[in-house]
Amino acid sequence: MDATHVVENQPPEFAPRDLWRDDAALREALAREGGGAFSDVVARYGALAGGELLALSFDAHRDRPRLRTHDRHGHRIDTVEFHPHYHQVMDAAIAGGVAGLSWARPEPGAHVARAALSYLHYQAEPGTSCPLTMTHAAVPVLAREPSLREWVAKVAACRYDPRDVPVAGKHGVTLGMGMTEKQGGSDVRANTTTATPQADGGYVLRGHKWFFSAPMSDGFLVLAQAPGGLTCFLLPRRLPDGTLNGFRLMRLKDKLGDWSNASSEIEFDAARAHRIGEEGRGVATIIQMVMLTRLDCMLGSAGLMRMAFAQALHHCRHRRAFGRRLVEQPLMRNVLADLAIEAEAALALSMRVAGAVDAAPRDAAQAAFARIATAIGKFWICKRAPGFVNEAQECLGGAGYVEESLLPRLYRQAPLNSIWEGSGNIQCLDVLRALAREPETGAALLSFLDSAGGRDDAYDAGLERVRRLLATPPGEAHARSAVAALAVQLQAAALLSAGSPLADVFCRSRSGGIGPGVYGVLAPEVDFDLVLERAGGG
Ligand SMILES: Cc1cc2nc3c(=O)[nH]c(=O)nc-3n(C[C@H](O)[C@H](O)[C@H](O)COP(=O)(O)OP(=O)(O)OC[C@H]3O[C@@H](n4cnc5c(N)ncnc54)[C@H](O)[C@@H]3O)c2cc1C
Repeated sequence: MDATHVVENQPPEFAPRDLWRDDAALREALAREGGGAFSDVVARYGALAGGELLALSFDAHRDRPRLRTHDRHGHRIDTVEFHPHYHQVMDAAIAGGVAGLSWARPEPGAHVARAALSYLHYQAEPGTSCPLTMTHAAVPVLAREPSLREWVAKVAACRYDPRDVPVAGKHGVTLGMGMTEKQGGSDVRANTTTATPQADGGYVLRGHKWFFSAPMSDGFLVLAQAPGGLTCFLLPRRLPDGTLNGFRLMRLKDKLGDWSNASSEIEFDAARAHRIGEEGRGVATIIQMVMLTRLDCMLGSAGLMRMAFAQALHHCRHRRAFGRRLVEQPLMRNVLADLAIEAEAALALSMRVAGAVDAAPRDAAQAAFARIATAIGKFWICKRAPGFVNEAQECLGGAGYVEESLLPRLYRQAPLNSIWEGSGNIQCLDVLRALAREPETGAALLSFLDSAGGRDDAYDAGLERVRRLLATPPGEAHARSAVAALAVQLQAAALLSAGSPLADVFCRSRSGGIGPGVYGVLAPEVDFDLVLERAGGG
C-alpha cells in the first residue's frame, strides 16, 4: 500500500548521549570544587547514564513496584517486587559509586565526585536516586556506633546485593529512613512509635511510619520515643537468624510520580533495633543523614532541570516552524537561554555546597557554610524545578506532553524534592534558626558572598540588599522572600566565582528579583549564541 505521507520535521533520537561530555558546566564544577582526581569515574558514569541507564529507566518507571504481603500459602513475606530493569539500574549505580564513592575512597574531593554522580544519575532514573541517596547519607550516622562497622563497610563495598537475607550474608547493603508518621512529618517530635529497652542492650519498637521509602532496604534509620525521649535507631529488615524483623508493609503509596521507587506505609510490631546516639538525641543524631539527603535533593533538582533543558534544546535544534529551526526563532532563543542560565545556576550552587561538605571535616567555616547553604539551596532549587520542567516541556509542543518524550516523567518527579526531607517552609524557617542560633553560618555566608563582590554592578547592588537582610533577618511570615533573595545572590556568587560566561546575564536578569516569574524574559542585549553554545549537545 502506498504511504499516506512522508514523516518529516521530527528530531532524531535524543539518546544515547554522553551526559558528561555534553555538560561543560559540570566538568568545570567538578574540577573547581576539588573533585578533579575523580574525573575518569564521573566521565564513565556520564556516558553510562545517558546511554544504557536511560534506556533501562523506561520499564523501571512504567512497570511500578508491586507489594506482596503474603506468599501463596499465607505466610507473611512483606516484599516488594520490581521490574528487572530497576535492579539493573541499581546495580550499575551502586557499582558506579553513586551511593558509596565517598566512603569507598574517603579522600578530599570524593564528596564532590559523588555529588556529580548523583546529579548524573538523577537525569537518567530519578526514582532509584531515593534509595541511593539514603544509603549514602546513612553512613555518617552508622559510623558513630563501632558495633555497626559492618554496615558502613558494606555501603563502601559499592556492591548491589538485592537478596533479602541478614546483613552478615550480604556483599553490599542499602539503607532507608523512617521519620514521618501520620500525625506529623515536619514536626517529628510528635512521633508516637515507642522504643522499649531490652536486657541485652537492644530495643523493641512498636508503632508505625506513614512514609517509608525503599522498604526492601537492608536497614533503616528510624526515630522512636525511648524512655529518655526521641531517639535514633538502626532497624534491620532481617534479624541475624534470618527471620523477618517485626515490621509489616501495609500498602504502597499511589504517588504522583517517582514511580520506579516504592514508598510504603509500615507498622512495627516488636521490631528489634539498635540505638544510635544517646536517648533523647534522635533529631541531633539523624540530622547528619538529613543534611546529606537535602544536598542530594538540590543535586537531583539541578539534574532534572538539566535533562529537561537538554531535551528542549535538542528538539528546538531539529524542529522547524515558520521557515526556520525553532532554535533560530528569536523568542524561542530567549526562552532556551533563560532556561540554560537557570539550570547552570542550580548546578553551580549545588556543587559549591558539595565542595563545602567535602571540606567540612577540615575547615569549620566550610562546615558552617554547608549548614546554611544546604537549607537555602534546598528551598530554592527544588522550588524552581516544577515551573522549569513545564517550560522545557512547552518547547517540545504537544510532544512534550507525551510519555515517550520523557518530559511527563520529569514533570511528575519535579515537585517531590521540594516536599520530602523538609518542605519549603521548613527550609526557610531553618535558615532563620541558623542565623539566630549559629552566627558562624551567617558569617560564612557573607564571607562567600563578599568574595564574589566588585566584579558586577548588578551583583554588588544585590549584595547590599542581602547584607541588610542578614543584619536584620525578617520574622517567620517573611522568611520565603528573604531566603529567595539569599538563594539568588548565592547562585550569582557561585557563577561569578566560577568565572562562568553566564554569570553576568544571571546577575542582570535575577539579582534585582526574578521579574515576572516566567522564562524567556532576558533583556535584548543578551548574547543568546554564547549561552546556547555553552549548553552542549547537538
Ligand atoms: C514520595 C515521598 C517519599 C517519602 N519518603 C519518606 C521516607 O522514606 N521517610 C520519611 O521519613 N519520610 C518520607 N516522606 C515524607 C516527607 O518527608 C514528609 O511528607 C515531609 O517531611 C512533610 O511532612 P508531612 O507530610 O507530615 O507534612 P506536614 O508536616 O503536615 O507539613 C505540611 C505543610 O506545612 C508546612 N509547615 C509545617 N510546619 C510549619 C511551620 N511551623 N510554619 C509554616 N509551615 C509549616 C510544611 O512546610 C508543609 O508544606 C516522603 C514523602 C514523599 C512525598
